[in-house]
Amino acid sequence: MDRIFIDRLQVFGRHGVLKEENTLGQMFFISAEIFAELRTAGKNDDISQTVDYGHCCNIIKDICEKKTYKLIETLAENIAEALLKYSDMINSVKIRVDKPSAPIGLPLESVGIEIERRRHTAYIALGSNMGDKNAYIRRATELVDGDDMCRVTRVSGLINTRPVSDIPQDDFLNGCMEIKTLYSPEELLARLNEIEKELGRTRDVHWGPRTVDMDIIFYDDMIIQTEKLTVPHILMHERAFVLEPLCEIAPYKIHPVFGKTVIGLLSELKGENKNGI
Ligand code: ATP
Ligand code: CA
Ligand code: CA
Repeated sequence: MDRIFIDRLQVFGRHGVLKEENTLGQMFFISAEIFAELRTAGKNDDISQTVDYGHCCNIIKDICEKKTYKLIETLAENIAEALLKYSDMINSVKIRVDKPSAPIGLPLESVGIEIERRRHTAYIALGSNMGDKNAYIRRATELVDGDDMCRVTRVSGLINTRPVSDIPQDDFLNGCMEIKTLYSPEELLARLNEIEKELGRTRDVHWGPRTVDMDIIFYDDMIIQTEKLTVPHILMHERAFVLEPLCEIAPYKIHPVFGKTVIGLLSELKGENKNGI
């Protein structure tokens, strides 16, 4: 992919674990590789279609000079996040922080770190079967979009479905959305849980009625199995209420475990095509 690079921008900062470092300060060199599609700007000779590297340098300088961190890891993390938030055109960034005067009492040219961060694509299933279901789902979508670490890029229509659990409860309204996010999968789950809580979700009975439920269906092509999180969602391929809205926004997305498209999983579930697509 095309990239813009900033090589060894010299900035003054007070980052370090030692008190003297926080008071006296020292020079840092910041390098950035900014990955973005540059062809459109190149063909049109138009600055509005590219990432303004002057502005990126100022973002880096501001973070370096106005904040004080113990770790250059935190400095790099904050720079990466600020650049990715600055422009949707940036797909990923590589940030290198050099600290040539690090006080370790040994002769060296420089010490430093390099990190790479990028935007991720996730698909979230939404469901509600209490109160004003439409409003709960709309509000949940707005709250996700309003988080500066997420942007909602596609939303499906909503469908009415019968509850699958044996617990007597109202019908569901279900939908799906595609988001771009800077959160890790675990951070995203925690944020979605916070939003559910904010919208009055309680967890009294498993599979009981809820104001809003948000499940992570896919996160890039990652396969995750931890105590808190299974991605792709473990039951998504058995649930028409997930596959139908998902098929509207991502029919050819391939399930990374089964190697089948969403549209294939849906027709398999409906018994239309036993071999899948
Ligand atoms: P189901 O997961 O069968 O749809 P539910 O959504 O009603 O059931 P919750 O009470 O919302 O269940 O979640 C139970 C737990 O599932 C959560 O605490 C969470 O840690 C875990 N979980 C595992 N994988 C996922 C995922 N992909 N998305 C959301 N939660 C998940
Ligand atoms: Ca669920
Ligand atoms: Ca859930």
